[in-house]
Amino acid sequence: MEDSHHIPTADSQHHCHADHPENSPDYVGLTVNSGVAQPPCVNPYMKPRRRRQYTPAELVEGILKGDVTMLSRGVTLVESLAPDHQALAREVIEKCLPYSGNSRRIGITGVPGAGKSTSIDVFGLHVLKEGGKLAVLAIDPSSERTKGSILGDKTRMEKLSTHPDAFIRPSPSAGSLGGVARKTRETIILCEAAGYNNIFVETVGVGQSETAVHSMVDFFMLIQIAGAGDELQGIKRGIMEMADGIVINKADGDNVDRARLARAQIRSALQLLPNPPSGWQPEVLCYSGYYELGIPEVWEMIDRYFDFITANGFFERQRREQARYWMYETIDAELRRRFYDDPDRAAAIANAERLVLSNRLSPFTAALNLLGE
Ligand code: GDP
Repeated sequence: MEDSHHIPTADSQHHCHADHPENSPDYVGLTVNSGVAQPPCVNPYMKPRRRRQYTPAELVEGILKGDVTMLSRGVTLVESLAPDHQALAREVIEKCLPYSGNSRRIGITGVPGAGKSTSIDVFGLHVLKEGGKLAVLAIDPSSERTKGSILGDKTRMEKLSTHPDAFIRPSPSAGSLGGVARKTRETIILCEAAGYNNIFVETVGVGQSETAVHSMVDFFMLIQIAGAGDELQGIKRGIMEMADGIVINKADGDNVDRARLARAQIRSALQLLPNPPSGWQPEVLCYSGYYELGIPEVWEMIDRYFDFITANGFFERQRREQARYWMYETIDAELRRRFYDDPDRAAAIANAERLVLSNRLSPFTAALNLLGE
């Protein structure tokens, strides 16, 4: 992942909600509000009640029974940055792993305002009509939970949020994109072990987070909207190449013709791309999330895709490739963490940086010295 070479600075760890793409003046959907400051203590005379820490075995037992509270507790453990929690989380994940994998993992991306939450709400209800359970997870590297609700917030998916078979979990809040994505990938395992056979992973389509989502899903769906003038302007070629299906939302009212035009343009643009490794020719469909038009057609496409990649072996192959990807991704992240988190090294790094900035040492020598070579 591109951000794996990003050197953490104090600033980059704290994204401000004001920078969130959904707070751009061009955005027409819900905006991201500032969080409310937490009062230091609600009642100073009340003893804080500590929640009991379940053992990994208890959590796994609950998760396997489909107990949502235990699943949530497990996910909280996965998301925790505390080293002892991480050790417990690893145990839970390892124990759940044999029961995982039995789901359709679907990535959903689109620019802010494309209609992701509206669509996930109706797509979600549609899949739940067939039975089974649905987990909606999100990857938003610019989110910090206390600074406002962004992706995967329950209030954005009104109908699903009250559905007994839907589990909606907002984006993990901490750290870099790689870290956030890894936690979501681990959360998928817990959800599958809890019997969720449909997993949606939502991401806001403005940057590298698509690559992260693509590396953990079977089907990658790009939500587009028509009517913004140059239809292809906003689509990065790389994202188009990753998409197994491109769906054009808001094909309703006056917008139907524009949506059809966009469909034709996107179809011809797709012809210029190399054949995807799955052998599946990405489809382009119009629909309306808000008016619930064309939803079964989108789902039939997804069914066809899964039949196709199951028959040609790509489903299994892609999952194996993804497991390998996450192994190396975790090694990279862990090596960097160990390097930067070593308190003995902090002074040496600061010193080397000074020498490099004043041109007394080359960046390469400085780096190799710090790495002990
Ligand atoms: P997100 O930022 O991608 O999650 O987008 P939202 O789901 O919040 O939708 C952004 C705006 O587009 C909202 O005002 C929705 O009501 C509107 N919208 C979403 N889907 C449709 C649709 O199918 N047709 C129309 N006309 N508006 C839609």
